[in-house]
Formats: sequence, structure tokens, C-alpha cells
Amino acid sequence: MAGVKPLERAAIVAVGSELLTPSKIDTNSLFITEQLNLLGIDVTSKAVSGDDRTELAHIIRHVLGRVDLVVLSGGLGPTDDDVTREAVASVLGLPLAEDPDITTRLRARFVARGYPGPMPEINRRQAMVPAGARVIENARGSAPGLWIDHEDRVVLLLPGPPRELRPMLTELVEGSLRARSEGKPVVRRVVRVAGLIESHVDEALAPLYREWERQPIPIAATILAAFGSIELHVSAKAVPARAGEALDAAVAQVVATLGDVVYSTDGRLLEKVVGDLLVERGLHIGIAESCTGGLVTSRLTDVPGSSRYLDRAVVVYANDAKTELLGVPEALLIEHGAVSEPVALAMADGIRIRARAEVGVGVTGIAGPSGGSPEKPVGTVVIAVSTDVVSGFPGRRSAKREGGSRTVRTFRFHGEREHVKLQASNAALDMVRRQLMEKGSGGRG
Ligand code: ATP
Ligand code: MG
Repeated sequence: MAGVKPLERAAIVAVGSELLTPSKIDTNSLFITEQLNLLGIDVTSKAVSGDDRTELAHIIRHVLGRVDLVVLSGGLGPTDDDVTREAVASVLGLPLAEDPDITTRLRARFVARGYPGPMPEINRRQAMVPAGARVIENARGSAPGLWIDHEDRVVLLLPGPPRELRPMLTELVEGSLRARSEGKPVVRRVVRVAGLIESHVDEALAPLYREWERQPIPIAATILAAFGSIELHVSAKAVPARAGEALDAAVAQVVATLGDVVYSTDGRLLEKVVGDLLVERGLHIGIAESCTGGLVTSRLTDVPGSSRYLDRAVVVYANDAKTELLGVPEALLIEHGAVSEPVALAMADGIRIRARAEVGVGVTGIAGPSGGSPEKPVGTVVIAVSTDVVSGFPGRRSAKREGGSRTVRTFRFHGEREHVKLQASNAALDMVRRQLMEKGSGGRG
């Protein structure tokens, strides 16, 4: 392979008219992207084509001049609407010829499967190979894959069924594709942030982005925002150890810049971070939820081993329920309303005391679409966290009451009902996290 240009940029073309309907999603390209990134091959574009020779030929022609590798998935079946082989052959100007070995294998497979009668002649289409192509055997299906070297580019045809495509591509990534790549994979880290909006994070990090671009190992950054939680993805392309070092340094810069809004740099989700803090500190939690309907508890219990710290949780929708199950005074509900800071605090205290836990959480709000008022519009959510921790000696069901603290915040979230719930659950978990971090550092002196 000496002198051959390494494969650096790739385009993916998923073929299949069903992928253009609302009922079928192209998942192959996600897998292909993941695998190519392991080799440091960037996917610069992807397309979905219907089973239409002209359309597909147009797409192939368009991407061919722009990348080193074109990966096509699907359309290798035996029927007339399987057009990938023909389209590729016509664009590359390669004649198609039947490969008798493939035909033999196809016939044998047909017999082995116990299909009635001889193999239909139409299936021989799957044995048609563009001149010069390398045939890649398909252990799980009939259509073989095809590897075509075209000048210094590669065009790869893979079968559409994911269970056939995946093992075939994995083998190529271990073998032929690795041999043609630079050996500099894309390494990624994810930094997770709570309680800031995307543009604030972006603004704060802008000077770092500029610095990272000019480094010997440049670092690329992307921000993804989803309902009150933000993810910063940083990636570098280099031999893994060097990329890892560069990314560790970058992550440390992000943490130094953003501070304690960063809750995870190692892939953990917020519920896992909160769970780990509770375990570390030997604490237990009780949760009282109104508008989130159990979502905070549900997320906490997504973490295996949550029984070590979750004592109990209640969903208290009606005012009666808040009074009966948590002891929230009726007078408080009448005076301030169910969505208020005094009520949220009383819920947090009520569940903490009843659970004999050290941490209590109360969530009350208006998820909408109705139920809002001018002072308390839809999206108003009040969250309280109440703790009762013996400082320097955290332990369960302690009789001594020292080191307790209570925080309460009123949030105004935007969006649909379920988005309000999701944001509220993020905020609640993050308030618990912050409270526990304070306890961890300051409370023991
Ligand atoms: P076959 O010989 O089975 O016809 P093929 O290479 O022609 O193989 P297709 O007919 O395009 O493949 O697809 C076969 C199956 O694989 C279909 O069920 C299809 O939904 C699924 N499939 C095809 N392409 C994709 C894709 N990009 N993502 C997910 N599934 C896919
Ligand atoms: Mg098909």
C-alpha cells in the first residue's frame, strides 16, 4: 500500500425506498460512522437514496470527487429494485460480469435453506460483479459485499440488513480498512453541565475553542443541549494516548472555566452522579413529587444499586395528599398555594422526616398546558432540598440534628408538559448534587 493516499474522508449512501418513508430509519449509517471514526476516518456527508438508478447514480457521482471512501448500504438484493450494483458500475464505467463462484454459493445456499424448486434465475443478479471488484463473503445472507478500488479511492458496497452489514464492516475495520487508514482514531470526551443555557456555555468557552484550534493536536468541540442539560463533546484525532492527553487537558480547562456547573466529565449521567455522592457520604434520600409525577425517582432508580440510598418516594398530586402523607399544614397550602416555596420546603422536610433519611426533596409546580396564572405561569416549578446531616459524622437515622440545611428555588421552565417535567427533574437532581457537594467539602471541618 506504499504511496497510496490514506482514507481520511468518507461519504455514506443508504439505499432503500423504505428509508424515505416515515416508518423506517436508516440506522446503518450510524453504525458505519461509528466504525469509521474508530479508524480516524471522518464522515463528511451522508445521503439516503430511493431504489432509483438515476437518482443513486447522481448521488454517487456527486460525492465521489469529494471523499476518499464511499460506503453504500443496501440495494444488493436480487430483485429489479435493487439497483446499487448497476448504479455504481455505471458511474465508475465498469462492466458487470457474473462471478460463477458466487452463483455456485447462491445455489448451495438456496438448497441448504430448503427452498422449494431450483433457485430463480433472477437471483443470479446477486452474482454480478463490477470488473476488478473484490468480493466480500456474506456469512449471514446471500448478497456479498463488494470492495472497489477506483483510482486512489475506495467504493464499498454492503448489504442492507444490519445483521449482515455489521459483521462484514467490523471485519473490514479490523483488516482492509485499517490497513488503508492513518491509524489516528477520533477520541471523544463528554462534559456534562447543568443549570446553564447553551449560549452562556458557548460564550464562556469561546476563547478555549480558539486556543484548541491552534494546538499541535487540535481539539474540536460541539455543544448539544437537551432540556436543561448541556453536553460538550470534545474530540481529537491522533494516536490514542496523545489524543487522550490532549483531551484530559482540555476537559480540565473547561472545568476550570465553568466551575461547579460541570457535573460529569466521565460519561456519568446526573442521576448516577447524585447516587454516587449519596453512597460516598453514606446518606439516604426521600423524595416527594407533585408535577414531576415520579420522574425524579424514576431517574434515580435507573441507576443499579439505588436501593442503597433511596428510602422512599411519594407522588402527592392533590393538596390532601400533601397534608395526609407529608404533614404539609393546610394553612400553608391555603395561604401560599400548592406551588410555593413554603409548601416545597414542607414537602422536603415531610418526606425526609417520614423516611428517616438525611436528605429530602420536594417538587411542586405547574407542568401545563392549563393551570397557570399571571403570577404563577405554566412552567413555574418550586424545588426544595432539606438535609439533616451530622457534620463530620454522616450516619443514618441519627438522633442528633446538626448540619442541617434547606434550600428552595423557584424556576420558570418553557416548553411542553413533558419538557417541563424533564427540566424540573434535572433541576431537582442538580440541587441535590450541589447540596451534597457543600456537605462534602465544608461540613466536616
Ligand atoms: P437483501 O438481499 O436482503 O434484499 P439488500 O442489500 O438489498 O439485501 P435491502 O433490501 O436494501 O438490502 O434491505 C434489506 C433489509 O435491511 C430491509 O429490512 C431494510 O429495512 C433493512 N435496511 C436496509 N438499509 C438499512 C439501513 N440503512 N438502516 C437500517 N436498516 C436497513
Ligand atoms: Mg433488497
